[in-house]
Amino acid sequence: MALLDRALVHLLPAVPRPIVRRIADRYIAGEEIEDAVETVSRLNADGMTATIDVLGEEIHNADEAQEIVDAYHDSLDAISEHSLDANISVKPTAVGLKLGYDVGKANIEALVQHASESGNFVRIDMEDSTTTDDTLRIYRELRDARLDNVGVVLQARLRRTLDDIAVLADLRPNVRICKGIYLEPESIAFTDFEEIRASYVRSLEALADTASYVGIATHDEFLISEGKRVSRGRFEFQMLLGVRESLGRDLVTDGERLRIYVPFGRQWYEYSLRRLQENPRIAGYVATDTVGRLLSRNGG
Ligand SMILES: Cc1cc2nc3c(=O)[nH]c(=O)nc-3n(C[C@H](O)[C@H](O)[C@H](O)COP(=O)(O)OP(=O)(O)OC[C@H]3O[C@@H](n4cnc5c(N)ncnc54)[C@H](O)[C@@H]3O)c2cc1C
Repeated sequence: MALLDRALVHLLPAVPRPIVRRIADRYIAGEEIEDAVETVSRLNADGMTATIDVLGEEIHNADEAQEIVDAYHDSLDAISEHSLDANISVKPTAVGLKLGYDVGKANIEALVQHASESGNFVRIDMEDSTTTDDTLRIYRELRDARLDNVGVVLQARLRRTLDDIAVLADLRPNVRICKGIYLEPESIAFTDFEEIRASYVRSLEALADTASYVGIATHDEFLISEGKRVSRGRFEFQMLLGVRESLGRDLVTDGERLRIYVPFGRQWYEYSLRRLQENPRIAGYVATDTVGRLLSRNGG
């Protein structure tokens, strides 16, 4: 399977878009805000909360960044209008961080202010390690400006994460902890599966002491059971749309809070490709999933 994973990762850019779309379909609500509203309504009816992500990390100019920002403002309005139980997750580079620190920060700040008007919340996603310092700086500056309806993400994969937890402690931050999707060099990141898991558990335990709230983002059963042990009902679990849905339903049945990450937007292709390429394990899941669908279609 490892060979197939690697082959798939390299072949993906050559795969026709409609096929990538089909593979990635279950991970994305659709292209329009209405699709996200429909998906979130369904999740809410099933006892889950959501966080909406506007797809579009590959922006090249201020106009493109503004388009994404506008879609987030529309998402906040739609959440209020439809009384959805959902917040938003924002990638700093999608709203202009690479165009300039001040551009990214101003756009996130405007969204946090908008969200606060309706008692809502903004999660700042964490991207690759070239953005970690700036992202944490934006978070601290917003909190220093008394904007408290904002949270950040830390990645267990990064060796620096325990230090970051200590540095953020004075803010009593609201943190999503995840493994980290971006493959980083060994000099700054754990690369071994078990080491990443161990770092996740250490980070979670540290956050339980210092954070105001924790989003435990994982589909890893070992980490979910560690999450239950550490959280004791205080925190929430988070999963990606379309991933391990039965595990998610089990969490809800057990009385745990579960938030589903719901991406939507026209830039689904870049998101899908990036996800599939940057985490070779996911290519394996996709292959299994596709074979599984074909077998079940054939009655197998
Ligand atoms: C809500 C949420 C928000 C996130 N936000 C960020 C972020 O801001 N920054 C960041 O770097 N990363 C983010 N991630 C991604 C995260 O860092 C991991 O890359 C991803 O969750 C896979 O790690 P895992 O803990 O699920 O463990 P894994 O070991 O990768 O997966 C555990 C099991 O889950 C299943 N699984 C996992 N992914 C898939 C999939 N795509 N399709 C089918 N099955 C799958 C497999 O059965 C696997 O064995 C987020 C993840 C979630 C759930």
